[in-house]
Amino acid sequence: MARVMMAGCSKRYRTFVQALAVGVVSLWAANAAGARTLADHHVTHPHHGPPGRGRPLVVVDPGHGGKDPGCIGLRGTREKDVVLATGLAVRHRIEAGHRYRVAMTRTGDEFIALRQRVVFAQQHHAALFISLHANHARNHLVHGASIYRFAYRASDLSSARLAERENGAGLLPGPRFGRMPPAVADILSSLMRRETWLHSSVLQASMVRYLASRTTLLPDPDRHAHFAVLRAPDIPSVLIELGFLSNPGDERQLRRAAHRAGLARAIVDAIDAYFRTVRGQRAVRG
Ligand SMILES: [Zn+2]
Repeated sequence: MARVMMAGCSKRYRTFVQALAVGVVSLWAANAAGARTLADHHVTHPHHGPPGRGRPLVVVDPGHGGKDPGCIGLRGTREKDVVLATGLAVRHRIEAGHRYRVAMTRTGDEFIALRQRVVFAQQHHAALFISLHANHARNHLVHGASIYRFAYRASDLSSARLAERENGAGLLPGPRFGRMPPAVADILSSLMRRETWLHSSVLQASMVRYLASRTTLLPDPDRHAHFAVLRAPDIPSVLIELGFLSNPGDERQLRRAAHRAGLARAIVDAIDAYFRTVRGQRAVRG
């Protein structure tokens, strides 16, 4: 974990973090009286999951559902319907490629709280979490897709407002360090979050690159904000706003299966590129 996180850092800082990691693990081990392993406390590596599971698991999360329709388009298109249809297209594409396993937080019109979506991904040891949404703006001229990663501070005002709206239907998930002493859990949680956020940035950049070849993107399409559904400390996560249902062109496109299939292809191409990048980084570092 620490090795990946420290790419590009100074040697002194690396030494400091290595010493810190060793100290944290020793402290934790002493407190656990040698009786438990890290795995017992559900500390999982962001990309590996438990050993022996084979292909990485991608969790696809169509936003909203059931009593929560999400935003409504000019022609009455419901966000919950287009994001589910796109999610099913992504699942189909992943299954056809046989490179990853795939699971969805919902496959029908059901309400699922944000916390449950994250817990689902954690319980299944997801390697990646991809949340799908569609946007809405008062100005009907605004159009294009955008890709978000988690951050405590938003990149801009509209991202902050968007996160507020998307966060409306659930509670924030906390870190998962079970019965560990709080001080140790805090340090481990912070180290893990930093590594996960770095990987989320790689995934976000990859999504921007491949989605740009399939659809119009907003200016500055790589944004960040305090999205509850992206808060898992151990799973690289992005939220994709596929377009604006308040824009006639975007709404028309999102209603077309061919367009959604194109988006699904771009998303899976981006997942491929993400894994190439992170595996390449590990190979270089040995
Ligand atoms: Zn949404």
